Amino acid sequence: MYGFYFDRTYFLLIIAALISLGASALLKKTYSTYSRVRSHSGLTGEETARRILRSAGINDVQVVAVQGSLTDHYDPRSHKVCLSETTYGQTSLAAVSVAAHECGHAIQHAHNYAPLNIRSAIVPVANIGANLSWPIFVVGLILSMRPVLMIGILMFSLAVLFQLVTLPVEFNASSRALVMLEQTGTLSPEENKGARKVLTAAALTYVAALAGSVLQLLRMIALAGGNRRDD
Ligand SMILES: [Zn+2]
Repeated sequence: MYGFYFDRTYFLLIIAALISLGASALLKKTYSTYSRVRSHSGLTGEETARRILRSAGINDVQVVAVQGSLTDHYDPRSHKVCLSETTYGQTSLAAVSVAAHECGHAIQHAHNYAPLNIRSAIVPVANIGANLSWPIFVVGLILSMRPVLMIGILMFSLAVLFQLVTLPVEFNASSRALVMLEQTGTLSPEENKGARKVLTAAALTYVAALAGSVLQLLRMIALAGGNRRDD
């Protein structure tokens, strides 16, 4: 156990933390820049969402406001585009971009976009994997039992797989959003460049999360290897 607390694999966690900090700082900066730029159309996030959904021929999805900031999401079960208070009533490029992105998920759902379905299907196992992998892994380290360590690593891999499948879902929702913003005339091509920056910065946080998890997975593998040599 001594080696577990002071092992050299900690540098992997430090790299993961730096990647995550960098990505969230970029998103914060980009979001705050474009939350001060008002769109020429003057549409709010809510109005943008309704316009995009109508234009995409989607009539069974509601647009509702939810509390908090950065709580925007699409709920496929209730068919709702849920926009945070900061997105719902704002006319900034940031708000319009986020609203359009959530509609991108609604359009994916309507079109039966395969990665979205795969992602929904693996949510339960990914959650179990994320919650139980480390406890199981630590038990494996304490008992120096290789099969237990392997189960821990395998369970964590499920969480990594989930984050991997999240990437095409997020990038695709954003590209659909940008197409719809231009097609519906909500944003000019010039404004769309700003929207692209906001959505790219948001997508990069998912890439950073995946990178962080892969580094954690490497750390587990290194720890398991070291544990084997010790006994
Ligand atoms: Zn999304």
